[in-house]
Amino acid sequence: MSDEDPRPAEVKVQSHGGSEGRCAVCGDNASCQHYGVRTCEGCKGFFKRTVQKNAKYVCLANKDCPVDKRRRNRCQFCRFQKCLAVGMVKEVVRTDSLKGRRGRLPSKPKTLEPSSSSGSLNIISSLVQNHVRSNPSADKLDFSQYQEAAEKAVGKEDAGDIEQFYGLLSGALDVIKAWAENVPGFSEFCSEDQQLLLESAFVELFILRLAYRSEPEQQKLVFCSGVVLHRLQCVRSFGDWIDSILDFSQSLHRMKLDVAMFSCLCALVIITDRHGLKEPKRVEDFQNQLLSSLRDHMSDSQPNSLSRLLGKLPELRTLCTQGLQRIFYLRLEDLVPPPPIVDKIFLDTLPF
Ligand SMILES: [Zn+2]
Ligand SMILES: [Zn+2]
Repeated sequence: MSDEDPRPAEVKVQSHGGSEGRCAVCGDNASCQHYGVRTCEGCKGFFKRTVQKNAKYVCLANKDCPVDKRRRNRCQFCRFQKCLAVGMVKEVVRTDSLKGRRGRLPSKPKTLEPSSSSGSLNIISSLVQNHVRSNPSADKLDFSQYQEAAEKAVGKEDAGDIEQFYGLLSGALDVIKAWAENVPGFSEFCSEDQQLLLESAFVELFILRLAYRSEPEQQKLVFCSGVVLHRLQCVRSFGDWIDSILDFSQSLHRMKLDVAMFSCLCALVIITDRHGLKEPKRVEDFQNQLLSSLRDHMSDSQPNSLSRLLGKLPELRTLCTQGLQRIFYLRLEDLVPPPPIVDKIFLDTLPF
């Protein structure tokens, strides 16, 4: 940039030229990606607010208003349509970040490496390896407790049921923690952010991974230790939550995901904006890398399969709330104290 450059100093334009440094929505300057697409801060904020508030807009013209830097504020309907048309991903906008902490420290700007397909391949192959390492192989499944006709499938939960429930949750936490540490790039976040991301994503990851491993047609639940239980053996401890997990499992299996898509989906559950992050920008950059890797990987699939896949993320948040309600109920029952780590996660992630 020469000295005569008339642009104010704080506007940093990358020297790539062409459309590289331009907002895909309005053409304004854009230095990095947001929600999977290179956009300016204005369009990023507009997109985020629209999704968080679930705002519905109306076009007063013919739904083809020009959206450029000068006219982007004229029609919100057409601006939002353009955001979607250029590929901004609404499923990764978190609605709970509305109650985000104000005045958090801005992180140092970090330039995003241009995503190349070899970079995507590397990310995906490490995610897949990590997935395989953190799941029991078919020959390690443990049927020693499995019973199809559980005699105590109905009635009120007793201390044994609750111990089983807490045991399964805390066992999964150790496995998911080890998994998270091996998500490429995760260990580069500061330790406070690593802990926050892990604890906020834990219940969602527990559900997603359990749903992927399980066999809903046979009502078989496969836990990460390899333990296999029948639905009837879980219904007194998990309550209705277990049926929601099995329904989700069925819908997940119907999508016929390959292991690469599934591994990316898991990474997107943990690499997401959470309120209280110290370096939200680094997390966002990494989320965008994941999204472009996933896009590259799915470029041959059906046009809307990416949004179908990412549509699982909001479903997962609903199932997570249901799980937290179950923990809430069991804490009230007070038959067995929850393990301290489960209690901490519960109190920290409570959305209600
Ligand atoms: Zn823009
Ligand atoms: Zn319009």
